[in-house]
Amino acid sequence: PVAIHWFRNDLRLSDNPALAAAAAHGRVIPVAIEDPALVAAHPAGAAFAWWRGRALAALDRALGGTLRALRGDPAEALRALAARHGASLITWTRAYEPWTIARDTAVKAALAGARLQARSANGALLWEPWETLKPDGAPYRVFTPFYRRGCLGAAPPRRPLPAPHLDLVPRAPDEPGLAAPDEAPWQARLGRLWRIGEDAAHDALQGFVQERLAGYAKGRDFPALGRTSRLSPYLAHGQLSPNQVWHAVEAAGPPEDVAKFRAELGWREFSAHLLFHFPKLAHAPLRPEFAAMPWRDDPEGLEAWRRGRTGVPLVDAGMRELWQTGYMHNRVRMVVASFLTKNLLIDWRAGARWFADCLVDHSPASNLASWQWVAGSGADAAPYFRVFNPAAQAAKFDPQGDYIRRFVPELARLPDRWLGAPWSAPAEVLAQAGLRLGRDYPRPLVDLAASRQRALDAHRALGAKA
Ligand code: FAD
Repeated sequence: PVAIHWFRNDLRLSDNPALAAAAAHGRVIPVAIEDPALVAAHPAGAAFAWWRGRALAALDRALGGTLRALRGDPAEALRALAARHGASLITWTRAYEPWTIARDTAVKAALAGARLQARSANGALLWEPWETLKPDGAPYRVFTPFYRRGCLGAAPPRRPLPAPHLDLVPRAPDEPGLAAPDEAPWQARLGRLWRIGEDAAHDALQGFVQERLAGYAKGRDFPALGRTSRLSPYLAHGQLSPNQVWHAVEAAGPPEDVAKFRAELGWREFSAHLLFHFPKLAHAPLRPEFAAMPWRDDPEGLEAWRRGRTGVPLVDAGMRELWQTGYMHNRVRMVVASFLTKNLLIDWRAGARWFADCLVDHSPASNLASWQWVAGSGADAAPYFRVFNPAAQAAKFDPQGDYIRRFVPELARLPDRWLGAPWSAPAEVLAQAGLRLGRDYPRPLVDLAASRQRALDAHRALGAKA
C-alpha cells in the first residue's frame, strides 16, 4: 500500500503523528502544495514565506529529494497524485485557523468522493481546542483558568514520537520538485542570522535548555539579554512540535523557570483556542464596544512606525529589529503594539498586517490574539488604561541601553539615562552626544502624555471596561 503525506505547517520528520500514520500504512509519497485560493485570501508574509522556502528545502534534503512540490487546488492535486501512484491513504497534520479548517473540510469531502481515505492528526498543539473547555463545555476567555484548569487539568501532553522509518517513493523526473529559491539582498541578510532545518531546530532547543532555561523567568523581559528561546519560528513552521519543546524542559532547570516557560507555550495554546472558538478574532474586535473606536487615519504615522522612525527609541529599536531580523522580542512587541494602538490611535489591524508580513514566526492565532490583547479589544485583554510608556519601559527593561544602541545606532553616544527619551535631554547633553533632534534622529511623533490621555478619553467614550 501507498500513502501520501501532505506537509503543511509540520515541516519535520520526528514527532509527526500524521507522517507516522502514513509510514505505518506503507510506502510514502511526501508532498507540499501551494493553494492559490488560500494564498489569495490569506497571503503568507514575505518573511514567513522566505523561512518556509528554506524549511521545505531542508525537509526535501532529509527526504532524499522525494518531496513533490505542487500548486493548485489541493483536493485535485492529491487525487491526481494518488491515482498516479495507486495511493489509498492521505495524511496531514491538523491546522486550526477557521479558513484552513473550511478548506480542509472541503478537501476531505472531495477525497471521500474519490474513495480515498484521509486521516488528519494533531501535531501542532499540546491540547486540541475542544479538549480544553470549561466544565460546562464553553470555551475559556481568560488565560489563567484556561491554562490552570483547561490545560494542566487535562491529560498531559503526549510524549514525542521518534522519526518513523520511511519507505519513500522516488520522485519521477516529470514530477515537480521545489524550485530553487530566489535570494534578494534582504533574504541573504536574514539567511546569515538564522539556521533553518529540523536539525538546527533541535540544536536551538538544546542550546536553550542547556544555557538559558535557568534564569528564564527573570531574564525573559530584557530584550538585550537574549534570554528567551527564539524557538517561535521553528514552532510556527512545525520544525519543532510543542510536545518536543514541552518535554525537553521537563526537570531540566529550576522549577519556576520551567513553569514560566511552559506557561508561555500555554499562551500559544490559548491563542489557538481563541481563534478556533471565536473566528471573529481574525477581523473584528472580540469586545463589541470596540467596533465604535475612532481609529485615526494617519498614513504618515503608520509609515514612521513601520520604518522605526517615530522618534521614540524603544519603539524604533523594536521596529528595526523586526525589519532587520524577521523577529522582535516579546516585551518590545507589546510596547510597539501599544504605541501604535494607543499613542497613535491607529487600528490594530494595520499593525497586525505589518507583523504578518515581517515576522519569520508569524502565526495567525498568536498574532491576532496578541494584537487584540494589547489594543484592549481581546477576550482576556489588557485593561484599557494600560498604556505602555515606552520611555519608562526602556529605563526598566533596557537599563544599559544595549538593545536601543544595537538597533538605533544614531543614539549610541547618548548617556544611558536619556536613551529612552532623548527629547527630554538637556541641550548640552545632546550636543555632547553629537545629536541634533529632527536631523540625526526624529523628534517624537506624539507627546507621550497627551497621546496617552487622548487614548484614555477615546476608550472611556466607548464605555470600555477595565
Ligand atoms: P519564548 O519566551 O522563548 O517562549 C517560548 C514559546 O512560547 C515561543 O516560541 C512561542 O511559541 C510561545 N509564546 C511565548 N509568548 C507567547 C505569547 N505571548 N503568545 C503566544 N505564544 C507565545 N508569537 C508567534 O509565535 N507568532 C506571532 O505572529 C506573534 N505575534 C505577536 C504579536 C504581538 C503584538 C505580540 C505582543 C506578541 C506576539 N507573539 C507572536 C508572541 C511572542 O511575542 C512570541 O511568541 C515570542 O516573542 C517568541 O520568542 P521566543 O520564541 O524567544 O519566546
